[in-house]
Amino acid sequence: MVFFDVIFPLNIGPLTYKGPAGYPGPIMPGMLVRAEIKGTMQYGVIRGRAVHIPKGSVKEIHAVLQDRPIFPSPIMNLMQWMSDYYLVSEGLVLKSVLPKDVFKATKSRERVFRSARSLASSVADLSTDPDVVSAIRETISRKEYKTYLLHVPSFMHELSYLSPIIRKARNCIILVPEVSHIEEVSPYLHELVGQRLTILHGRLPRRQRNNAFHRIISGDSDIVLGTRLAILAPLNSPSLIAVLQEHNRSYKNLEGLRYHARDIAVMRGYMEKSTVLLSSPCPSLESFHNSTIGKYSFLTHDNTGQRPRIEVINMKVAKKITTHLSKRALDATASCIKNKGNALLLVNRKGYSILQCADCNFIESCPECRIPLVYHKNKGILKCHYCGHTDNSTDICRRCGSSRFDMIGAGTQRIAAELEQHLHVKPLLFDKDVLNEGPDHGDLQHITLGEETVVGTKVITKRLPKSESFNLCIFLNPDMQLHLPDFRSAELLFQEIVSTSECVKDGGLILIQTRMPEHHVFRYVRTYNLNDFYKEELSVRKSLAYPPLSRMVLFTITAKGEIEEMLAKALTDTGGVVEVIGPVRTSGKSQDQWKLLLKSSSKEYLHRYARSVLQSLEKRKGFRIVADVDPISI
Ligand SMILES: [Zn+2]
Ligand SMILES: [Zn+2]
Repeated sequence: MVFFDVIFPLNIGPLTYKGPAGYPGPIMPGMLVRAEIKGTMQYGVIRGRAVHIPKGSVKEIHAVLQDRPIFPSPIMNLMQWMSDYYLVSEGLVLKSVLPKDVFKATKSRERVFRSARSLASSVADLSTDPDVVSAIRETISRKEYKTYLLHVPSFMHELSYLSPIIRKARNCIILVPEVSHIEEVSPYLHELVGQRLTILHGRLPRRQRNNAFHRIISGDSDIVLGTRLAILAPLNSPSLIAVLQEHNRSYKNLEGLRYHARDIAVMRGYMEKSTVLLSSPCPSLESFHNSTIGKYSFLTHDNTGQRPRIEVINMKVAKKITTHLSKRALDATASCIKNKGNALLLVNRKGYSILQCADCNFIESCPECRIPLVYHKNKGILKCHYCGHTDNSTDICRRCGSSRFDMIGAGTQRIAAELEQHLHVKPLLFDKDVLNEGPDHGDLQHITLGEETVVGTKVITKRLPKSESFNLCIFLNPDMQLHLPDFRSAELLFQEIVSTSECVKDGGLILIQTRMPEHHVFRYVRTYNLNDFYKEELSVRKSLAYPPLSRMVLFTITAKGEIEEMLAKALTDTGGVVEVIGPVRTSGKSQDQWKLLLKSSSKEYLHRYARSVLQSLEKRKGFRIVADVDPISI
């Protein structure tokens, strides 16, 4: 009798079953099966021969669904590695990659989104460095593992390097951060490689997602374009794994299995001897650091051509029209409009402002989240931007009964109102509220062009097709971001400014209002000086022992009552190798949620320690603990 370990897409480890009696062929790891678990039939995947044979009666595998593996063995190995690295069960890893009803799919042709013409011409106009292309091609042909970090001026440049490479390569995975990138890029790639292309992302209807899966497994398609989950596409030994916009935070999955698709790309490349190409106009500090220590090979596109000029306005001394609007910014907007151009004003917050009682300084805050509510003038309400809680008390202070309020800070609505007052324009508002109002409002395709002035939050720059652009872009209050309690805030702001520059036309202008012009973000971003910015940022991280010069595991704990005593037992002596920070109550919805951070310069030791903490706590009743390995924010 042969026993097999089966993984189910459930948050549990592998379970052992007897091999199905009378099944004629060999049973291999990665094959899809059906088996009974707690009285119901479930789809699962063969992990391999059983490691331990359990005593007592063992159930039999009910059916083997296909005569070949749905996941090639390197992907099974990769999933096992992910389960180990991210401190989760193998079931949870499978759950995030196995489409439901995967065996029911029928084959169909890929749907083409829309015309590829505009993108094709903008990519074709760009020159590429032939040495860079041939270096990457050469590595692919050698079938050896190697990771390149390619620094280019724009997303279009990333595509211009990618296209000659994939045209000649077989079995490629191309990752982009958002579905909107897929919609933008897929018609172009389709024109380039035809039916070889398959699209894979989490928002595909189930049927299409299954089709994609089958087209890949059957070999009908060998180029996969997708978002983060496509990194586990069941492609046979990929020759190239390309991660476009590699700095983008959307590559990190924030729920369930908290993996980072860029890191998995590098690991998969290593395990399958693939060439990994990470590209970006503003690489992440992690990747940059990896290229300085020789883990990745750094490639750069020398001829950056014309980039928009960046001007920093010192708000401590600049002439101001209102508290938030410098004369320079207003004049630039006016002249842009006069010259029939279009301007984009970026604000850090939606809504109008925060209301503070002028008499007793009271600020109404969310009863759930305990953060200040934001006044939305258009609807006459106060709103929590975290949970959506609303309140109508905008007339009278709840604490002292005063009806006099001061407006603190400026959101999109307030900036729009000020522009209307001073320039007599009616700007288009674009923030998350607008996006949520429906697809008609949320589709930028037909609204940006022709609008002379747009006031938005950074949501707009994420959604804006890279081929559309403005003559002027103004960052009104970027300092707010630097005050966030996030050690990556400077890096993020630098990346945001560089990314936004892609939405500005050649010869256009970017203005940045700040009260901290001496900050290294502003000192270096003026000249797009990534190297010097990162050198300084690395020294800051080093002095505080933050990643990439250390590793972190963040635990989120949900429990009733006090948890210190329980934690004290679990947090054994770290020998000074792991720094334990917290527990700190979170400001989120629940009163019973805590964060506990582990930090260390030793990856291996941190990992072992985190696992032991997890193991001693996760089985407790009324206690929930979730690990986030390499969290992107704390
Ligand atoms: Zn008051
Ligand atoms: Zn709230």
